[in-house]
Formats: sequence, C-alpha cells, structure tokens
Amino acid sequence: MIHLVFATNNPNKLKEVEVLIPENIKLLSLKDIGCFEDIPETQNTIEGNAIQKAEYIKENYGYDCFADDTGLEVQALNGNPGVYSARYAGPQRDASDNMNLLLKNLEPSLNRKARFKTVIALNLNNNLTTFTGICKGEIMKTKHGSLGFGYDPIFQPDGYKETFAEMELLLKNKIGHRGKATKQLVAFLNEVSLKK
Ligand code: IMP
Repeated sequence: MIHLVFATNNPNKLKEVEVLIPENIKLLSLKDIGCFEDIPETQNTIEGNAIQKAEYIKENYGYDCFADDTGLEVQALNGNPGVYSARYAGPQRDASDNMNLLLKNLEPSLNRKARFKTVIALNLNNNLTTFTGICKGEIMKTKHGSLGFGYDPIFQPDGYKETFAEMELLLKNKIGHRGKATKQLVAFLNEVSLKK
C-alpha cells in the first residue's frame, strides 16, 4: 500500500480529493505527520508553489507527498489573480473580500472569461511529477450559492447554469480543475503500484 501525505490545511480541498483516492492508497494529513507549521509557498507560479510544498514535506518530514496549488485566471485581468488568488484582497486571505475585489475590478469588462487551474505536484520516491487540471468558465456579476469554498460562488463553468457553489461536490469533482488533476494523479499511482 502506498502511504502519501496530502499537504493541505484546507478541509475543502481534502473533501474533494479524498473521495477520488482509491482504498489501496493511504492518505495522511499534515496533522498525522505532526506538521503544524505554515508550509512556504513563495514562488511566482502555481506549478512552483505546488512543487515547493511537496518538496518541503519530503525534505523536512521524510514522507512521500503531494500538494495542490490552485489559481483563478481571469482573461480580462491578464490572468490575475492567478498565483495570487489567496491574497488577492490582502493578507487576511478572506474569500468574501477576494470575490468583492474581483467583481469590482471586472465591473467595466464585457469579457467575463476565466479558468481555474490546479497543479498537483507529487514527490514519490524522490521523483517529482506534476498533474494539471483546468476548468474554463465565466465570472458572474454577483455571488450565487453557498457550497464549496473560495471563489466558487462567482464561477460558472462552461456548459452549466449553476456556479460551483450551487453544485454538489461530485459534480464539481467531475468537471472541475482539482478533480481533473486528481484523476491523473490516481491513474499515475495505479500504474506505479502495478509495476511493483
Ligand atoms: P491555494 O491553492 O490554497 O493557494 O488557493 C488559492 C486561492 O484560490 C484561495 O483563495 C482559495 O480559496 C481559492 N481556491 C482554490 N481552489 C478553489 C476552488 O476549487 N474553488 C474556488 N476557489 C478556490
């Protein structure tokens, strides 16, 4: 059985990812390995931050690990907030403040196109592999729904009439950025365990 740390303190990310992980992979939390510190994410790309987090756990705690870094890239804002999505409206990292600022900055724009991008970095046996999931959609004019987290109430994926915050987790996982990246991770891990 593969033991893997999922390097997140975000219970919503954990909820989305754990339902996609098969039983032959034992997921460990940061708490399980005694990690109670803030893991540095100081890179200027989403990929860089995911890799930094996965490497940090391997180097400092010795566990195989994967980490997710996600950003919301808005076309009319030149791809912002992107890697700065968490702190878009300031260091308080508040979802409501972030959404309000984004709605305000996008107010004059007719182009509402955006995409979520998740990069999962896996550090397994000191080999690093990344998996990317993208979900395209549009930024709404107001918030809708109370499910999910972060920017979910203002993001409507292409082909749907609901925002992520109006969708059950299973549907968000099926079409969403994190679900797509996680399914690639699982396929990769299945191949690795077949070769063993
Ligand atoms: P991070 O990957 O935890 O650094 O997240 C960056 C920012 O994007 C945070 O403000 C999160 O709340 C937000 N975010 C991450 N994933 C999602 C998602 O699936 N839906 C909505 N917002 C998200």
